[in-house]
Amino acid sequence: METLYFSPLLLGINLMLGCAIASTALWYFARPYCGPGVWMSGAWTLNLGIWLFIGYMASASPWLNIAGNSLQLAGEALLMVGVFRFLGLPPPWWTVPASAGAMSLVMSWHWFVAPINTEFVVTFYALIGGLLPIQACRALWVAREEPELSGVRRFVALAFAGFALITLLRALLGLIDGLQGIEHVDVTRSVPYLLPYNFGIPLWVIGLVGLALMTMRRILADSRRHAEQAEDSAERFERLMRITQAGVVVLERGRIVDANPMLETLFARSREHLLGAELHSLFAPAEQIRVEELLGRADGQPHDLEALRDAVPFAAEISIAQLREDGRQVAEIRDVSRRKALEQQLLHLATTDPLTEALNRRAFEERASQALQRSQRQNLPLCLAMLDLDHFKQVNDRHGHITGDAVLREFSLLCRQRARATDLFARVGGEEFILLLPDSDLEAAAQGLERLRTNLAERNLQGLRISVSIGLAEWRPGETLEQLQQRADTALYAAKVAGRDRLMRAT
Ligand code: GH3
Ligand code: MG
Ligand code: MG
Repeated sequence: METLYFSPLLLGINLMLGCAIASTALWYFARPYCGPGVWMSGAWTLNLGIWLFIGYMASASPWLNIAGNSLQLAGEALLMVGVFRFLGLPPPWWTVPASAGAMSLVMSWHWFVAPINTEFVVTFYALIGGLLPIQACRALWVAREEPELSGVRRFVALAFAGFALITLLRALLGLIDGLQGIEHVDVTRSVPYLLPYNFGIPLWVIGLVGLALMTMRRILADSRRHAEQAEDSAERFERLMRITQAGVVVLERGRIVDANPMLETLFARSREHLLGAELHSLFAPAEQIRVEELLGRADGQPHDLEALRDAVPFAAEISIAQLREDGRQVAEIRDVSRRKALEQQLLHLATTDPLTEALNRRAFEERASQALQRSQRQNLPLCLAMLDLDHFKQVNDRHGHITGDAVLREFSLLCRQRARATDLFARVGGEEFILLLPDSDLEAAAQGLERLRTNLAERNLQGLRISVSIGLAEWRPGETLEQLQQRADTALYAAKVAGRDRLMRAT
């Protein structure tokens, strides 16, 4: 046990224990970076090897001697494997069992087959220990990625190269001693034995400090890169918020906590007025429940709402999405009044006759069948009238096409003015029109149409006397629109045959 009081050994043991504790702290604080975990395992394995070796010194047990030496080499191999892990290179795990296995074999031979001069044993140990760091040194020296780390990588490479040199020198000295037949019984007098305590362990500590610095440098570089990326994306977001044509708001429990400049323009309100306001205050009061519902749904889909700018309503489109789990939401609001007006215009063009502004046949048929279904469901009366201007060909022939057009327009206007909002009035041919009268029985419809006919007869359209013949039919349950139209047409034909300028009811 006296050897334990010999300071180099004790100092070495304590330094290695310190290294193991420091590498554990490095692993803990550098998680989840790759490398420090393996270094920690290596340092503790090496320590375990040292303690077993001390156990051997106290007990002279060959097993402790074999295990102690093998584990020390395994620990060193692990440390080097960690370097490869850190650099993102394929780690040479095989070196761990290979170095420990080779050492075990030699030691077992020494103890159980034939004793070998201990200087040769030291030589063998030092040869493996000196060769192990060489590949890691090379990898550290030539690594090209992460230029910020190149200085500290070379520092570590030099420390390990120094360690390798000392260890190989130790192997050489051991070999020379062995060849001269020198064998140190008292290890404290062996130069090859003491060399690592004077130079090897300090270099080992420097290497470990270097590994810690290298890891910290990587963490620093990564966090700087992340900060730059975050700054960059914040700047891009800011730019996007400025140029987007949509008003963008960040919401917390339905209240505005952030808004882009476009929102100020969109609602003609300053940012100060917008911040803190409830989202629904931007919309018509009737939309409040809808806004609350959309906030609850946060489906990211566009929805049409009526928004208010200076108390004037405009068509808006809003999409709300969840921003984070903490309940923050983001809403995008667009003024779609121009698009809505265009849609209305297109709908108008698609459904009306350009000359007379009456519905066209397709729009009429679509809406008439809906009206027919409603009448059927609610058991309400419904009438349909076919109207055809009399001798219209003569109007064109005598007064020209342009006058004819004007007559058609005036006739259409007259009919539309007299029709109820629920009636459907359409142009189905040149001077042929159709009128659908929901909720009207035959009698009421006939009276209204008679008034129209007499009204037309009394007034002049374009200074001309124009008359109209009308065929009227009341819908019968189960009858289709075509059948109803057919009966009205037959009645119209009858009105023509009977001398025109009259209304005939269908049978
Ligand atoms: P009837 O009393 O038997 O209905 O005689 P009509 O002359 O009105 O009937 P007919 O079907 O023979 O003639 C319809 C005329 O309507 C033919 C055409 O010149 C005229 N017409 C059709 N479409 C237009 C139009 O868009 N503009 C003008 N100006 N005339 C049209
Ligand atoms: Mg006609
Ligand atoms: Mg006709």
